[in-house]
Amino acid sequence: MEKIYLILTCAGKGERAKLDKNKLLYKVNGKTILEKTLSVFLESKLIDKIIVTSSKEDFNEIENVCGKFATVVLGGSTRTQSVKNALDKLDGEGIVLIHDGARPFLSLSTINNCISGAREFGSGIACVKSKNTVIKDGDKKEYLGKENIYIVQTPQAFNLKDIKKAYSQIGDESFNDDGEIYDKFISPIHIVEGNIENEKITYKEDLELFNKEKVRFGTGFDCHRLVENRKLILGGVEIPHDKGLLGHSDADVLTHAIMDAILSASAKRDIGYYFPDNDQKYKDANSIKLLEEVIKMIEKEDFKVTFISAVIQAEKPKLSGYIEKIKDSLSKTLKLEKDKIGISATTLEGLGFVGREEGICVSANATVIKN
Ligand code: MG
Repeated sequence: MEKIYLILTCAGKGERAKLDKNKLLYKVNGKTILEKTLSVFLESKLIDKIIVTSSKEDFNEIENVCGKFATVVLGGSTRTQSVKNALDKLDGEGIVLIHDGARPFLSLSTINNCISGAREFGSGIACVKSKNTVIKDGDKKEYLGKENIYIVQTPQAFNLKDIKKAYSQIGDESFNDDGEIYDKFISPIHIVEGNIENEKITYKEDLELFNKEKVRFGTGFDCHRLVENRKLILGGVEIPHDKGLLGHSDADVLTHAIMDAILSASAKRDIGYYFPDNDQKYKDANSIKLLEEVIKMIEKEDFKVTFISAVIQAEKPKLSGYIEKIKDSLSKTLKLEKDKIGISATTLEGLGFVGREEGICVSANATVIKN
């Protein structure tokens, strides 16, 4: 099989993003954008050698981030010049993929499509069909329509020898991308299917694209038996009633379900795992304190709770007068505004063990984000 090379362009300053540094070195969810982009290629296990272009200013930092996987080379004053410098480091037979470091959302199938295109047709340029009509602005507006209109992305893959030959002829001319250079000096490019998510991070607002992967969702459920001579505590609030919930801790069934929802959303184990009910430490434990511990636990991994929703299933007592107080209590512990906490209560119309007032159940949902 031929060798497959990757050139990752990271030599731009990314000034349009108006971040305090090169956007590719900006961390989102604990990883730089450059690492995210690189990780897709590493996951593909197809690449034999990676070259990353860098400006002088960022060279050390970029080398720190990806030196283990890639050779970092100095870029030039333009993207074209940077790619040329990188191509100079490659020789022999093979296929080279050229990709913008600022496109971390490329898919494995896009990489495969590009390589197949280069193997079969000499080039494979990732593109997506335009869903919108395109106009070329100017003194006279030119309607290009949307039929046969493609939005060009990267990666762009080429037969290495050919793209090197094309680059040797560019002189001082400037080009939109590598495909255009290949098209001008070698032969017409071959379009392959990219993926619609494969957007380029250009402006600060584009960082919002990462939010899609940040939001996580979890479910929790709990149930406790109602008995005499116990307090009824829900969400840390004591509710006057002739019965209370039985349990090793204070049996705050609402707080327990919420803890499990949060832990689940953070891909952690359940409360029984962290606070076992055969541990004397948790005898009569205040569940709100345990919730505080759960929050600390997830904060250590940069998770933050963003919404809580729970439904309490109880035949009695009537809870509607206590919901606000419960929300106040939870809001404080969760460090979450009250308008991001939804608590509802329902009876079971006399049905089942909840209907017979033998127990109270709660199901809860949580969303968390990883910062
Ligand atoms: Mg419980």
